[in-house]
Amino acid sequence: MNRNEPRPSARQRALRRSREVVAGVVQELADDDERTPLPEVPTATSMGLLSCHACDALSPLDQEGQPCRRCGATLHHRKPASLTRTWAFLLAAYILYIPANVLPIMITRSILGTQEDTILSGIIYLWVSGSRMLAIVVLIASIVVPLLKMMILTFLLLSVHLRSTWRLRQQTRLYGLVELIGRWSMLDIFVVALLASLVRAGALAQVDPGTGAAAFGMVVVLTMLASLSFDPRLLWDAHDHAALEGTNRKDAHPKAPAGAAPASAQAND
Ligand SMILES: [Zn+2]
Repeated sequence: MNRNEPRPSARQRALRRSREVVAGVVQELADDDERTPLPEVPTATSMGLLSCHACDALSPLDQEGQPCRRCGATLHHRKPASLTRTWAFLLAAYILYIPANVLPIMITRSILGTQEDTILSGIIYLWVSGSRMLAIVVLIASIVVPLLKMMILTFLLLSVHLRSTWRLRQQTRLYGLVELIGRWSMLDIFVVALLASLVRAGALAQVDPGTGAAAFGMVVVLTMLASLSFDPRLLWDAHDHAALEGTNRKDAHPKAPAGAAPASAQAND
């Protein structure tokens, strides 16, 4: 009976395989917190210390703002004004994201006239003219990736503000993802350069970058600065704070059951 069924094509098999992989990753992420509770581990702060960001030397917490005894770098418990600076860079990036997409990124002048192209019209042009793969690359690099980066950073900032202890490990991984994408941010600029060079191929055309290109470059730089300004340790401060409160409560009520502290920490989830 099975012999009569059509064999799945290579494409169908690849599709099914990738679906299984994605489902596996999603399941793993969903199970992670339930299966393995966060271990109580000592941190520099819990031991009354802060570590130098330049040479990792440990100093007492009250040395905040003083030069490191070993390398001379200014000591900080957390990146100074991390939240304010990240918000500032991020909001500026959000604002510039609009002109980056609305204003023309390049102006083409030829004997046929002048044509202004935005990122989206460039993508549509590439798609219609048959370069579908390139259209998808430009769409991902120029529209999806910057927006994703900004949205993840917004989520992390809100999480710090709300002192959320929800899936901190996954949140830390999200920040790692932003940093990973950050290294490829210049891909966006590269794609714009590629677009410009494609049009330059027409010998009688002159291509100039539009105002949108400047805005776009600023978005890339601002999101990089925003992710650099963010201190992921702030995410864990909420957990340490909750754990400390739990311990204090246990000390105040010695008869409280042993599981009281983790239960109260999970109540915030
Ligand atoms: Zn140092």
